[in-house]
Amino acid sequence: MKFDFYNRNMLAQRTLKSMTRSVGVGLHSGQKVELTLRPAGPDTGIVFRRVDLPQPVEIPVSAQVVSDTRMASTTSYGGGADAPKVQTIEHFMSACCGLGIDNLAIDITADELPILDGSAASFVYLLQSAGVEIQKAPKRFLRVKKTVEVREGEGASLKWARLEPCHGFKLAFEIEFNHPAVDATGQRVEFDMGSGRYTRDIARARTFGFTKDVELMRSRGLTLGGSMDNAIVVDETRVLNTEGLRYDDEFVKHKILDAIGDLYVCGHPLLASYTGHKSGHALNNKLLRALLADKSAYEIVSFDDERDAPAGFAELAPAW
Ligand SMILES: [Zn+2]
Repeated sequence: MKFDFYNRNMLAQRTLKSMTRSVGVGLHSGQKVELTLRPAGPDTGIVFRRVDLPQPVEIPVSAQVVSDTRMASTTSYGGGADAPKVQTIEHFMSACCGLGIDNLAIDITADELPILDGSAASFVYLLQSAGVEIQKAPKRFLRVKKTVEVREGEGASLKWARLEPCHGFKLAFEIEFNHPAVDATGQRVEFDMGSGRYTRDIARARTFGFTKDVELMRSRGLTLGGSMDNAIVVDETRVLNTEGLRYDDEFVKHKILDAIGDLYVCGHPLLASYTGHKSGHALNNKLLRALLADKSAYEIVSFDDERDAPAGFAELAPAW
């Protein structure tokens, strides 16, 4: 008989039970891309592998390697501009965080994740269909100990993002587009990850774009794969998608979805309260780097007894 020292009360790391695949097109490149997701061992984190390159290159996700945040979070090997990269990871990272997935190995055949329906819902479905495996290692949280804030601009163009200590993971976001179609919807949302409502309330919110920006973005080689199948498209006055919005406040909910993904690139779920005012990928990443630059502002913690963990975290993704 073998003794098992695994503590069954521990809040543990998670990976997938089995391999799963997805095929789609990249939002910016318009290129076809295939993803193969495989289970990975404890403390591996989330690691992409560019298998289309002559010599496959592993690109582990971390705050320090997130390089180009013009439109979407790009993770590059070593963080250099010319290094092999993977773009548009935030919706996928958001789904992983929402389901409490810690470890995953992902083979990818292009430099950009598929946009799928423009939300995290397809990734949630993909991860859930593979099943979630509980691992014999404690889940490691990054607990924020001090308030950290970053700001950009002044007056009407002021943007800021802040992390504060919290026994849980709560987010609040406020947008201000001065656009009739956006202003008509809720512009402030609060969300508590411990509520267990990520899949229902946040994951389905789609990315959005304004027709006036499309020409400019296309001239810069961006959004070549974008369409009304994978984004809310807004002209000067209204939403053009015939089916309308998925949530009354879908715009600001998508910003929460993005922030969850942007923050999860630190490699751990946060124990923090996040507030974003007109923030975006670049500012969220700056916030994360500011936090990680101050060793006294955070610590890595785990819970030997899941009853000490924030409510709801043990139930994030039911294992089956
Ligand atoms: Zn997004």
